[in-house]
Amino acid sequence: MPSLYVDGEWIGAAAEREVVNPADQSVVAKVDEAGAAEVRSAVRAARRAFDDGPWPATPVAERAALLDRVADLLLRDKEEIARTETLDTGKTVKESRIDIDDVVAVFRYYARLVTEQHDRTVDTGRPEIESRVVHEPVGVCVLITPWNYPLLQISWKVAPALAAGNTVVIKPSEVTPLTTIALVRLLEEAGAPRGVVNLVLGGGPAVGSSLVEDPDVDLVSFTGGAATGRAILRAAADTVKRVAVELGGKNPNVVFADAADGEGFETVVDNVMTAVFLHSGQVCSAGARLIVEDSLHDRLVDAIAERAERIVLGDGLDPRSEVGPLVSAQHRDKVEAYVASALAEGATLRAGGRRPADPQLQAGFYYRPTLLTDVRADMRAVREETFGPILTVERFTSEAEACALANDTDLGLAGAVWTADAARGERVARALRQGTVWINDYHPYVPQAEWGGYKRSGNGRELGPTGLHEYQELKHIWRNTAPAPTGWFAS
Ligand code: NAD
Repeated sequence: MPSLYVDGEWIGAAAEREVVNPADQSVVAKVDEAGAAEVRSAVRAARRAFDDGPWPATPVAERAALLDRVADLLLRDKEEIARTETLDTGKTVKESRIDIDDVVAVFRYYARLVTEQHDRTVDTGRPEIESRVVHEPVGVCVLITPWNYPLLQISWKVAPALAAGNTVVIKPSEVTPLTTIALVRLLEEAGAPRGVVNLVLGGGPAVGSSLVEDPDVDLVSFTGGAATGRAILRAAADTVKRVAVELGGKNPNVVFADAADGEGFETVVDNVMTAVFLHSGQVCSAGARLIVEDSLHDRLVDAIAERAERIVLGDGLDPRSEVGPLVSAQHRDKVEAYVASALAEGATLRAGGRRPADPQLQAGFYYRPTLLTDVRADMRAVREETFGPILTVERFTSEAEACALANDTDLGLAGAVWTADAARGERVARALRQGTVWINDYHPYVPQAEWGGYKRSGNGRELGPTGLHEYQELKHIWRNTAPAPTGWFAS
């Protein structure tokens, strides 16, 4: 089946790419790899659909109805799409199902939000003037996504982009394109007009950068790694595109001893583990840096070390699996290199640090959840995003020291603070330079609240009202109801 979608048609290409299941390296699918001609056609189709097609001026209620239909179709196909996401990414099917529920919520949220948006009337102080600020779509939007949450990440972009009346060219990660193809099929089924949604597949340097450089593109929304984000910002500069980049994180999870009093201890252990080991740590907001109060350090570390060794690794489709494999051999090599470098720099290995011995897991890219203590803030494994199941532990004795450690990073995507003291929780949450801070929790998000990074974790916001504004221009319309000569020039 052809897998590129250009100007309302599914088309093939001369080249193909194999999509591999990270749990056993089997080939799950072969997809078309776009060449320069397909990329150009996709952008032209989106340009035509924006400049000459009905979509940008389609009544908001109709655009919202399309999003609601997509949400219904996602629920209809939930099991199949969840299975596909697991085959493609390795994540457990339980998590894939949660992703789809979240995606449905995002489509429904933007369907509602866009219908509730109003023009703003400005009081100019002159009764003969009607002044309004109105929302308009930006134009042709290129949406580029990573491999860790393929369906979720594209939905955070495509739902607000279409709600606002833009046309789009989608480029998912070449490693995990399958659920994005499925979503585009649902957009087609839901009635997206010809050329409004286009899909090209292929590698970043070839396909991605041609899209970013194309003069017919007005906006690029990118989620992925820091180096790619910087390259995109540079490449988009010549044509002064709007660019939003959502990049990685190195996220502190700050635990005060009072959070672990009594039954709180189990809650803290459990949440610290979920914060970092969910999806094998391949989460931009993973709580990979545990920053713990000195008096709690030894007890907490002992408990995590013991529990981490009991985490059940396995194929994401097996309901007994708690964690799946890493996404690729190359990524596992990177994770192993981070552990080796930390050990060479003096860290202590308290759990994991190895591939599983289970013969059944040898064909997959598995890596045991890993706990490293005695680390310093200047070690590579502490400073850089490892994007793997690695938890490093630092200790503090005062609130000021905890905040200083947590902010000692170039990144600022997310973080958490655990404490029984409400005032302290609030103070620390305010002090952390992170786009999301959880107090006594980790990971939850809702479509109504903005998501994005401080510092080098990015420059945009997704979700919430701002996630829609990113895809809108503001136009000021000034109407003079009693035009008269200005009298500026005497004759
Ligand atoms: P990546 O940067 O390698 O690739 C991301 C996407 O960019 C892919 O589609 C890739 O093909 C494309 N790409 C690569 N080079 C390109 C270029 N020169 N021009 C245009 N496109 C190009 O990232 P990845 O390895 O797929 O994803 C992991 C990264 O994503 C991590 O750093 C993670 O933290 C980040 N991430 C961030 C968030 C967030 O919300 N901030 C969410 C998920 C993932």
